Amino acid sequence: MDRRSFLKTSAIGSAAIAATSVLPGCASGASKDGKKTCCENVPLNISFQEGIAPGETLAEKLDFMENLGVVGFEPSGRGLKGRVKEIQDALNGRNIKVSAICAGFDGFILAEDPAVKNQFDTTMREIIEAAGELGSTGVIMVPAFNGQKPCMPHTMETRDYLCEELHKLGEFAKSCGTTVILEPLNRRECFYMRLVADGAAIARDANSDGVKVMGDFWHMQEETSDYGAFMSAGKQYLQHVHMASRGNRRMPGEDGELDNYVEGFKALQQLGYDKYVSFECGCGGDRATLVTAAVNLLRTQWEEAAACC
Ligand code: MG
Repeated sequence: MDRRSFLKTSAIGSAAIAATSVLPGCASGASKDGKKTCCENVPLNISFQEGIAPGETLAEKLDFMENLGVVGFEPSGRGLKGRVKEIQDALNGRNIKVSAICAGFDGFILAEDPAVKNQFDTTMREIIEAAGELGSTGVIMVPAFNGQKPCMPHTMETRDYLCEELHKLGEFAKSCGTTVILEPLNRRECFYMRLVADGAAIARDANSDGVKVMGDFWHMQEETSDYGAFMSAGKQYLQHVHMASRGNRRMPGEDGELDNYVEGFKALQQLGYDKYVSFECGCGGDRATLVTAAVNLLRTQWEEAAACC
């Protein structure tokens, strides 16, 4: 064996060892119908926020979702305490579960004004309790949007304070059977938490199993790699994913070739990600048509990712 083929063989061998040792989603690697796939057993769990499906009532929306094979429902946290029974009743007997809860609290955790911080503590804990009752994967939050003022200064001490406060919140969420999910945004909305890795590192430093992170394909325009972004969080921290088209934040597919999620999907499958991929986006045309096309697009790209991961 010459040096070139030795290196080639060694590299393939190392990659194969790495793949079997660090990629839980691909550990079941197998071939199907003669086609080599390595992540074929990782299901795509699609979820919709409440405004995504067409329909006048929640029941009509859930009927539409069920017909499309959508298995998750992401309501807003606003007023959630008063909606627990309504949502439980609406989901009863359906193959749809509550995925994450999207924010909905008052105030913010990094508020300088103690009254505003207190508003956050009270309303967020109320939403977390309701999320636990609904079996949700977690409650999505941003520590402070750029425009929320007065805000604690962007210093090392503030980051330490944030991690301490998140620790308390995470432990409370854990006691309710759910989590708190940090959502990294883009620089225009949240300059200090733009990357999935930023949120994952804060979650790690909060030192609570009840603090997690998510990735939103719209905000992930900040990332240099969709694959790297999800891998940086890993299965330990990645708890939720948001979907949108990548040019105008509409239904996936509305922005044509920009709407490529394959690299990100590869990472999700290699991680053995078993949570939800949830639509959070607008709609630029006939809703029923575009939502259906978007779901089909995601399924096609998920298969494509499985075939080449
Ligand atoms: Mg989002």
